Amino acid sequence: MLKKEQLISDIKNMGLKSGDMVNVKVSLKAIGKIEGGAKTLIDAILDVIGEDGTLVCDSFNDTICRYTRFIHKNRITNEKTKSYAGAFVNAVLSHPQCYRSTHPLLAFSAIGKKAKEMTEAYTIESEPYGFLEDMANMNAVNLRMGDKVIGVGTTHVAICKHGFQQKYIPNGIYYIDEKGEKRWYEHFWASGCYKGFNMLFPYYREGGAVIKEGKVGNANSMLTSMKKTLEIEMELFEHDGTAFFCKDPGCVNCAFTWKHSVYSYWQSAWVDLKRGDYKRFAFATLEAVFGTWHK
Ligand SMILES: [Zn+2]
Repeated sequence: MLKKEQLISDIKNMGLKSGDMVNVKVSLKAIGKIEGGAKTLIDAILDVIGEDGTLVCDSFNDTICRYTRFIHKNRITNEKTKSYAGAFVNAVLSHPQCYRSTHPLLAFSAIGKKAKEMTEAYTIESEPYGFLEDMANMNAVNLRMGDKVIGVGTTHVAICKHGFQQKYIPNGIYYIDEKGEKRWYEHFWASGCYKGFNMLFPYYREGGAVIKEGKVGNANSMLTSMKKTLEIEMELFEHDGTAFFCKDPGCVNCAFTWKHSVYSYWQSAWVDLKRGDYKRFAFATLEAVFGTWHK
């Protein structure tokens, strides 16, 4: 059972320091059993970054399909809606000093010095993932804990800034606007392939973006400079727009669903069929038939 003191020691050893603004991505399962659970990990991070630091996490909301939204017409998202992002994020949301942005879908949450001003500035009008770009510009760091955690926080920013177009089944969210009226907000930007994001680590290492690799509890962890990972991704995608693909010809997230994908739907679907992966074949077919372009 991990205690707070041990976590503080591990996190300091990762290179996180007083005054840091940190984007935290964590798999609690990978860390191991913590005395007091997710709250203890939050307290440990806040202890390390101190009063001048800011802890940020993605507390995004789940979407519903545009075509079947009438079934979910009473599912209205607000600032109190639980995120799909897991136990740590939901513990951050219930922290008494947590602020959450009003963006209906990309709702970032933060605790600490800049929490209030940053979350208030991030609204429905803001650029998708612009919050993370602002963090990169403020020399923030990303602390990822656990091998299954997705990326280092900046890859979505680079994909959106390059204007890559992706096809997927349109989806969105119902929310209440400032006049108290119910509105539909649609996801309009490209996403990415999560397996592909974690294949970019060698580039971060080579490019000097990794501050430290080590362990927090049992979790393989990495502290990166968001400014540097974003710079590396911007340059890499400029030369190779397929760099964030996972290279699996059967992958619905990248094989044929981008304007610059290297396979066709038929090639990708055939790979799924040959593997006997009928579920993925069905999903690929739905994406090909009902998907619309997003950027
Ligand atoms: Zn993929």
